[in-house]
Amino acid sequence: MNIKRPDLLVVGSVAVDWIITPKAEREESVGGSATFFAMAASYFTSVRLVGVVGHDFPKQSLSDFDDAGIDRGGLEIDGEGLTFRWKGRYHENMNDRTTLETHLNVFEKFQPRLPDGYEASEYLFLANIQPSLQYEVFEKMVSPRLVGMDTMNLWIDIARDDLVKVLSKVDVLTINEEEARQLSGEHNLVKAARGIMKLGVKHLVIKRGEYGALLVDHEGNFFVAPALPLEEVVDPTGAGDSFAGGFMGYLARRGVSPNGASLRTAMIYGSVMASFCVEGFSYDRLKGLSVAAIQERFHTFAKLTDFSHANLLD
Ligand code: AMP
Repeated sequence: MNIKRPDLLVVGSVAVDWIITPKAEREESVGGSATFFAMAASYFTSVRLVGVVGHDFPKQSLSDFDDAGIDRGGLEIDGEGLTFRWKGRYHENMNDRTTLETHLNVFEKFQPRLPDGYEASEYLFLANIQPSLQYEVFEKMVSPRLVGMDTMNLWIDIARDDLVKVLSKVDVLTINEEEARQLSGEHNLVKAARGIMKLGVKHLVIKRGEYGALLVDHEGNFFVAPALPLEEVVDPTGAGDSFAGGFMGYLARRGVSPNGASLRTAMIYGSVMASFCVEGFSYDRLKGLSVAAIQERFHTFAKLTDFSHANLLD
């Protein structure tokens, strides 16, 4: 039986990256915030992708999107231009990275267009992209049940006002640790979180790379999810977007509004998808996963922090 899952619309970057890690390098590595998000979320619900690529975008990736069941009716192919390109180098610790080059290319004049019916999608994720474009898409939606968004240091630097305008409208902001500090001007993460909530964010997820992720809900409650201790991280690119894909995908699949229990489970599914992502370059490991593999890793996460049988001191 084919069950119709809720529609989760994502708008964001679809990119060709050049990734350099201390151990390896991939020059044409398909990436982009919406790519990782969509691949991860596709295991949970039906995903609609809005973005733009140029004539150089690999055809193989278009068919990978199709194989994953991603509706790419909103992915424009601009025959005149080149795909957004980003080049980054990871430091020895694989957590920090330096952006070496960013070429907006077709993103420079991109106007997101939603195919018929997309504006009625129940779930929306505004993946990392110019905040003004995120806002444009948000404004077109009819009445989404849940809206999430992500951003990055570049936009905090050059488009802060636009960014604050969007984040005050959404239900969940996912952001990484350094960006949280930059946005709030606070080094301590608890203070940073409180500062960001004051900008109008309802639920906040701070992604901390190999240290996991921190949730602050609308009542100010904290929850932490670990990252999977891995012997080898091949390429951390897209971990944050894959996290968001698992997180939003789970909430959409369950059709739930964010509440304590659903957000906590979503945090673990986010961590599960991020852990797969970093095991390979690009979305290599997010392709062709079985539901059983996802469930097994979910249980591995549950065991990681299960101390309910621990003895109390007497
Ligand atoms: P993450 O590792 O989750 O931060 O995501 C990395 C992805 O973000 C890469 O695949 C890049 O193509 C993409 N990216 C890098 N810079 C930007 C930008 N300024 N706007 C949108 N996407 C970007």
